Amino acid sequence: MTEALWSAEEAIAATGGTGPSGWQAHGVSIDSRTVLVGDLFVALTGPNFDGHDFVAEALAKGAAAAVVHRKPTDVAADAPLLSVDDSLEALRALARASRARTKARICGVTGSSGKTSTKEALKACLSPQGGTFASAGSLNNHWGVPLSLARLPKTADYGVFEMGMNQAGEIAELSDLVRPDVAVITTIGLAHIEFFGSQEGIANAKSEIFLGMSPQGTAVLPRDDRFYDRLVARAAEAGVTKVLSFGQHEEASARLVKMDLYAACSAVQAELRGKPLDFCIALPGEHWVTNALAVLSAVSALGADPVRAAAEFARLQPVSGRGVRRKLQLPGGGQALLIDESYNANPDSVKAALAVLGRCQPEGAGRRIAVLGDMLELGAHGPAYHADLSEAAMEAGVDLAFLCGPLMAHLAGALPPSRLAALAADSKTLAPLVAEALMPGDVLLVKGSLGSRMREIIARLDALS
Ligand code: ATP
Ligand code: MG
Repeated sequence: MTEALWSAEEAIAATGGTGPSGWQAHGVSIDSRTVLVGDLFVALTGPNFDGHDFVAEALAKGAAAAVVHRKPTDVAADAPLLSVDDSLEALRALARASRARTKARICGVTGSSGKTSTKEALKACLSPQGGTFASAGSLNNHWGVPLSLARLPKTADYGVFEMGMNQAGEIAELSDLVRPDVAVITTIGLAHIEFFGSQEGIANAKSEIFLGMSPQGTAVLPRDDRFYDRLVARAAEAGVTKVLSFGQHEEASARLVKMDLYAACSAVQAELRGKPLDFCIALPGEHWVTNALAVLSAVSALGADPVRAAAEFARLQPVSGRGVRRKLQLPGGGQALLIDESYNANPDSVKAALAVLGRCQPEGAGRRIAVLGDMLELGAHGPAYHADLSEAAMEAGVDLAFLCGPLMAHLAGALPPSRLAALAADSKTLAPLVAEALMPGDVLLVKGSLGSRMREIIARLDALS
């Protein structure tokens, strides 16, 4: 078996808690439904649940021990409990200890769009060059980041952590834990603008990632972004003066020279600090070209080989709900192509996905269909951002739009009436309308914010086959 992640002694020393020794944990979990044999179960208390109610279940499933701030009544007197004052604080303490003991080079990834995509691509690119750990899924918040850090294997060479935010100050707190050697900001967009007031506010909040860095660290920044200079200045204020940049700008250190965008992939000619580097990306869209240049910059800042890394883009797989494609067998015969972007949406990511749809050629009499749900957390400008998608939809050659949600009514009003197939109150109501309308050769994109529950539509379409 591999070396344990946490011995009882190490966890006690890290958290200042008390409890029996003699156990060793090989993983860390906060969810009794997915806890694995040998995990350290941390009982967190949330608004809707209390992990302490699930300690017995976690231990029964083989958890090595549990971190608790109150003793559950339904566990044995000699259960391996690590008692602490506050279990979230204890998780953060484990994260700090993990960061302090690791020899891995650490990369933090933030940005309005493309964090998970960039993190997963970094993992794929770094793995052939050294033991690489990356946070799972989108575990990017005040408990997801410490949980991910606490899971960092002792022997890792590289660690990649996604860092997200809903309000100012959050990234600063996360950066204090992650202390990135390399900080990537993918984009400054409009996601969650409701909570930041302006895009400047978003740029400033993303810049908090520099606060946890040492002066030796490197910032990897989007050169074409209108906030680039602000980001560089914020990095310098935090003492970070090493900057790598990516984009089309002639001064970008990872510079795009030429790209050929196809329906399912892209061919890229780039220059990395003046050296030519050509590669293919097995995922479509200009946004993936940008993400790839960010990844290559981070790879070189982490001390790995970007040329070797670039070869990995030809093997990239889409992450669930972010561009996964599958053929749907239609009940009346024939097939339609589904592009499942149901995971999440903001104005930039919907435009990026519409552009990808635009490059897909429907077969025969098939049509390009956009199935869109509300983009949430956009504040007062939400209606305008929705109406504004009309241009991108028309440019992409969308033949039919199926829309749901009160905000999408604004896009419905902006589209030529001939392109609007349906406007429904919610995804549940829209799902059968989409399913019934499909014809052989159609290509359809399904996208919306998580809260718009576009998964309902995917589930309905999957039931067709
Ligand atoms: P979240 O904040 O929800 O965790 P995220 O920042 O991790 O989101 P991803 O999950 O990587 O973002 O990507 C979500 C969607 O954003 C993708 O499906 C794709 O449509 C789009 N996307 C990815 N990269 C970019 C980019 N650089 N610019 C704009 N859109 C992008
Ligand atoms: Mg994410």
